Amino acid sequence: ATPMSIMVATGRGAQAGVLVRDAEALERLAGADLLVLDKTGTLTEGRPRLTDLAAFDGHDRAAVLRLAAALERGSEHPLAEAVMAAAEADGVSVPEAEGFAAVTGKGVEGTVAGARLALGSAGFLAELGIATEAAAERQAALEAEGRTVVLLAADGRLAGLIAVSDPVRETTPEALAGLRAAGLRIVMATGDSPRTAAAVARGLGIEEVHAGQSPADKAALIARFRAEGHRVAMAGDGVNDAPALAAADIGIALGSGADVAVESAHVTLASGDLRGILRARRLAAATLRNIR
Ligand code: ADP
Ligand code: MG
Repeated sequence: ATPMSIMVATGRGAQAGVLVRDAEALERLAGADLLVLDKTGTLTEGRPRLTDLAAFDGHDRAAVLRLAAALERGSEHPLAEAVMAAAEADGVSVPEAEGFAAVTGKGVEGTVAGARLALGSAGFLAELGIATEAAAERQAALEAEGRTVVLLAADGRLAGLIAVSDPVRETTPEALAGLRAAGLRIVMATGDSPRTAAAVARGLGIEEVHAGQSPADKAALIARFRAEGHRVAMAGDGVNDAPALAAADIGIALGSGADVAVESAHVTLASGDLRGILRARRLAAATLRNIR
């Protein structure tokens, strides 16, 4: 089906595109009572910047950046962009990685100059049998500030810690206030760590947080809410949000996000502005009134 394109003016006279797949989608959006929101790229801008770096086990900052960038060059994750930008800013030369593999929701792996590397969540490294205690205190402090922390391992030993900051979208607080006023229950679902998720949620007044969620977990969470009788809207931007978008009564993709997310969605917010959900609901209410 060709999406109906509905353009709604924003306060400052700019135009915000809300693309709705069909009339039924508009109706279902108006009927939703629970909204699940992904964190990275949905509540936040999804353009993280590297803010902190620590080196372990005889490595230094340049070595950590070099090895991390060698792995992230093959990744499309927003974290990868932060690492690549920092490596470029520091002028480090990035070697080729062999046997690169991305593990969705966990991290990346590969080999550089014979050294087996892994970069990702502390849980990912733990699964690989790598001791990460040396980074734990620093990690906890950074996560409490809402930063996302990833750890680097080289040949089975902790080599580095990288923290990134991903600012909340300017329009998010106003969007959440409006969505709550419209009676929607707001839930955050993210692959990020519980501490980082809680810190970001606290800043936004979101009380219900599900962290450490794999793409399948997010979809299962939504199925559970639906089984409880909720009419569930889900907003996300990433490749890993596609199953959750498809599991919801109404999937909302952020236009700046991955193509697969946009394809799985009933509604696309071209500018990534969550206030578009409110505009579309108002429009739906008005349209349905006219029909009846
Ligand atoms: P989100 O739900 O916030 O979009 P993801 O499910 O994509 O998060 O990722 C969850 C976690 O897995 C990240 O916070 C990070 O720790 C780790 N991770 C995933 N992809 C990468 C990557 N390319 N590089 C480093 N870490 C990664
Ligand atoms: Mg995301």
